[in-house]
Amino acid sequence: MSTSFEPGAPTPDDVVPLCVPSIGGNAWEYVKDCLDTGWVSSVGDYVTRFEKMTAERLGAKHAVAVVNGTSALHVALVCSGVQAGDEVLVSSLTFIATANAVRYAGATAIPIDAEADYWQIDPTKIEEFLSLECTRVGDRWINRRSGRRVSAIVPAHILGHPVDLDPILETAHRYGLKVVEDAAEGLGASYKGRAVGRIAPVGCLSFNGNKLITTGGGGMVVTDDDALAARARYLTTQAKDDPIEYVHGELGYNYRLTNLQAALGCAQMEQLDDHITAKRRIAAAYRRSLSDVPGVTLMPEAPWADSVYWLYTIGVDEDRFGMSSRELLKRLAAERVQSRPLWQPMHRSPVHSEGSFQQCPVADRLNRDALSLPSSVELTSREQERVIQAVRAAACGGRRQAA
Ligand SMILES: *Cc1c(COP(=O)(O)O)cnc(C)c1O
Repeated sequence: MSTSFEPGAPTPDDVVPLCVPSIGGNAWEYVKDCLDTGWVSSVGDYVTRFEKMTAERLGAKHAVAVVNGTSALHVALVCSGVQAGDEVLVSSLTFIATANAVRYAGATAIPIDAEADYWQIDPTKIEEFLSLECTRVGDRWINRRSGRRVSAIVPAHILGHPVDLDPILETAHRYGLKVVEDAAEGLGASYKGRAVGRIAPVGCLSFNGNKLITTGGGGMVVTDDDALAARARYLTTQAKDDPIEYVHGELGYNYRLTNLQAALGCAQMEQLDDHITAKRRIAAAYRRSLSDVPGVTLMPEAPWADSVYWLYTIGVDEDRFGMSSRELLKRLAAERVQSRPLWQPMHRSPVHSEGSFQQCPVADRLNRDALSLPSSVELTSREQERVIQAVRAAACGGRRQAA
């Protein structure tokens, strides 16, 4: 039996997949419209419409559609003034795209540990790094060990839960750093009533197949800043200077989302609220049914947060639960239930550990103990019941009695 299928790939009927897209509403109609009219590529009404819908949804002035979330981060960093040779603070516990985008901008990612309560990047660790490891030279802050300028922070709202952004924005202001929100997993979530992705001066979204909504592949740069939006649009369309002549003023990128993808995006954006309702319902059912299982930590939600519970994730305490998170993963796979651990933290990544300066014990512990459970928008209550029963049966090794 295979448990490593891609999200969105056809799965055997009786396997409960981790997270697959939900394609409904006007998707067929809008995509068919592109096919019927021939407007399938990088120009077309749906791109503009999708950008407008996204901007409106987040309450932002501008949204610039791009080919994926990683390119959104790359161009947002460049537009924020991150330069080759800089250092950028990132969540250690995040999907590698966050740190890869920093590298694409020529900078080095410095992984920062998570906080234990809500599993997001720890604002106090950011402050600690800047105050203990960096020195002010003119208007720049230099990492004493590397001699490099620290220019930005990229907090990633992981698993659909917002980062505690206010202290991070305050620290960034004091140290003159730019902030780029990685809201790839947080579309629809809010922090103290503000939409995630538009709290910092620039935010990035992803519409990959397993995210809250999908365009197959896609992303968005979101900002209120007119100049930044114009520059993002320019750089993502090959930095074209003249409408007729092929004259390009600087190094640009072919990052523009296609009309075909944007058509799907418009239909998906119309369904975002339904998707969020489904995710929250799934989370509530897991919470109800797993709260009494020894050794299981439920997914947290801060008092100041409205989480969209992108992937419902539990912590598994090996001693009390009776097996490790990886043993539980195998046990669930044997029951034809797909689950997944969190990412290797960036301070352990062979690609990004170079920038590592601090221990990240919380990220390490979450990497060891956390397991994401099936969270597709269309997960049925019968399927979810199977997941719940499989976890309960595995508790205490499936052999010993519960304490
Ligand atoms: C998915 C994701 C990205 C990248 O998005 P793509 O569209 O896959 O390029 C970036 N950061 C985080 C935290 C993600 O989960």
